[in-house]
Amino acid sequence: MKEKQSLIIYTTVFFRFFGELNDFLLPERKKKVFQHTVKGRPSIKDTLEALGVPHTEIDCILVNGQSVDFFYQVQEGDKILVYPQKVQPKIRKVKHLQPKMVGRPRFVVDSHLGKLVRHLRLLGFDSFYKKVFPDPEIVQIAVKEKRVVLTRDIGLLKNKVVKSAYWLRTPDPLQQLKDVLKQFNLYSKINPFSLCLECNGKIKRVAKQRISGHLPSKVKEYYNKFYQCQSCRKIYWQGSHYNKLSQIVGRVKKQGGVRLLTLHQ
Ligand SMILES: [Zn+2]
Repeated sequence: MKEKQSLIIYTTVFFRFFGELNDFLLPERKKKVFQHTVKGRPSIKDTLEALGVPHTEIDCILVNGQSVDFFYQVQEGDKILVYPQKVQPKIRKVKHLQPKMVGRPRFVVDSHLGKLVRHLRLLGFDSFYKKVFPDPEIVQIAVKEKRVVLTRDIGLLKNKVVKSAYWLRTPDPLQQLKDVLKQFNLYSKINPFSLCLECNGKIKRVAKQRISGHLPSKVKEYYNKFYQCQSCRKIYWQGSHYNKLSQIVGRVKKQGGVRLLTLHQ
């Protein structure tokens, strides 16, 4: 029995997390160096996720001053500094672990985030969503269509095949929207009223006479500019609903310092 116990190897390392990565840690581990002991010599990725930090949030890991990837196996006494994308270490050769975002990101959004989806579509960001959306399907779509996963479920972010994702820190949909815009530098890419809030389809201007048979009589009387979703055929006009949505765009605009655009011509 004694002999068996002596075969188990333990590895003690020292961690320090930076920026938003501290959101995932226990209070006594936030923003300070702490000691951590693991069984065997696991990969740094497994060690980090066991501490509660998903790999999708980590952009750089320095071990004893050297930038390493997720496959690095921890060694006794390692001093490990872990950075998110927004905080960069002051060394020359950094191995970035997050994929570079090219062009407009497209999202796949977890089922409990219906309001965020509408906000994102309102600002013109392609967001795939289903009310009933099992995790394996979310992962499959993320991989197949190279979409960024947005979720409040940390477990989903620990899935190995998920390359790009963001964990939403707050349950407030408007704050979630602001956080996503900030995280992916989207303020300059806002294109309001270009996507259907219901189905993510493209919205285009439509002549009044083509759709007048589908309009309530009051709407027909007071409005002349109409837009229609090219997928589900939903019709949009600048009614009271539009004003409410404009307010959301305006509030986001104030934060990001972007010009408020009017409805597409
Ligand atoms: Zn639609």
